[in-house]
Amino acid sequence: MRDLKDLVRPNVWNLRPYSSARDEFHGSASVFLDANENPWNAPYNRYPDPSQWKLKDRLAALRGVSRDSIFLGNGSDEAIDLVIRAFCEPGQDGVVAISPSYGMYEVAAEVNNVECRKVSLNARFDLDARRVLEAADEWTKVIFLCSPNNPTGNSLDRGSIYKILKNYEGIVVIDEAYIDFSAYPSFLRELSGFPNLVVLQTLSKAWGAAGIRLGMAFASPEIIAVLNKIKYPYNVNRLTQEKALELLGDEATMRRRVGEILKERDRLARILSRPPFSYRVYPSDANFVLVNVGRAEAIYKELLRRGIVVRNRNSVQECRGCLRVTVGTPRENDRLLDAMRRIRL
Ligand code: PMP
Repeated sequence: MRDLKDLVRPNVWNLRPYSSARDEFHGSASVFLDANENPWNAPYNRYPDPSQWKLKDRLAALRGVSRDSIFLGNGSDEAIDLVIRAFCEPGQDGVVAISPSYGMYEVAAEVNNVECRKVSLNARFDLDARRVLEAADEWTKVIFLCSPNNPTGNSLDRGSIYKILKNYEGIVVIDEAYIDFSAYPSFLRELSGFPNLVVLQTLSKAWGAAGIRLGMAFASPEIIAVLNKIKYPYNVNRLTQEKALELLGDEATMRRRVGEILKERDRLARILSRPPFSYRVYPSDANFVLVNVGRAEAIYKELLRRGIVVRNRNSVQECRGCLRVTVGTPRENDRLLDAMRRIRL
C-alpha cells in the first residue's frame, strides 16, 4: 500500500478538526454548562457522544475488532461519501467501481467531482481482477467492491478480491451490507493483513433497522482516524445510538430472522425458476433475488397495479429484463407469486 499520507488529500491530512464541547470534556460532572444546551428535556437536551464509544465497544465485541477500527455514520452511505472526500482530490483523482453494483459509489463520486470508472462484471456477474486493476491508474485512490453484490445478489470470487487487495496500492472498499445473509465469512478477518482494506457494513439489512440510519466502516485505526476527522461532530444521533445498542444486544433475533429470510429466498428462487414461470433466477447470497422476467417493464407495472412494488432493474445495462425482488414475509412472498401467476401479457 502507498503511504497513507500520499493517499489522503493534503488538506484533509493537514486539517485540524472541529473540537466540540463533548470532545473537550467527556466524563462525569453534575452541572453541564459547556455546550449551550437547554437544561430541560433530558436526556434529549444533551448532545450525543460524538465518538459513540458504547456502541463501538459492543460492535467491537460482536465483530472481533478493536474499537478504534470502527467508524460509525448516518448509514453506510455516509462512509461511502467520506471515503471519497478523504482520499480523492476533486477534478483530479478518481475511483473504480464494478458494474452493475450499488449506485451510490458513482453518485457520491460525481457529487464530489471525482471520476468513477466502471468495470463490468462478467456474464456470471463475477469479478475479473485483472480488468479492475487495469482500470486503475496513478490517480485512482479507491476501488469499490460489493459482496454480496447489489443488485445481482452473488458474492464476488474471493480469489479475485484477494488479488486486488494484494496488487492495488490504494484503498479497497468491500461493501458487505448483505454479509449476514451469506455463508461466506466477512473480510473483517483480513483487516490486520491488508492496511488498505475498508469493510462497510450496516444495520439496515440483517438487523432490520434501515430507519435508524447506522452504517459502519471497519479499517486500520489510521484510516478510521481520517474519517473521524472529517465527519460531522454529532453524526449519529442519540436515538440511533440507543436503539442500535438495544438491537445489537439481541443477536439471536437477528440470526433467527435471517434464517427465515433465507428459507423464503430459496423458496422464491425455486418457484420462480420452475414452470409456469421458468425465469432465470440469479444465485443470491443476499435478502433479494434478481430475476430475468423478460418483459420487466410490463410485469413491473402489472405488479404495481396489484399493490406490489419490486425494483425494476431493466434500465441497468447488464440487467435488461430483470426485476430485483426483496424477500418479504411468507405471506408477502405468496402475494407476489399469486399476482405473478395472474399476470397475462
Ligand atoms: N451498500 C449497499 C450494497 C446497499 O445495497 C445499500 C442500501 N441499499 C447501502 C450500502 C446503504 O446502506 P445504508 O442504509 O447503511 O446507508
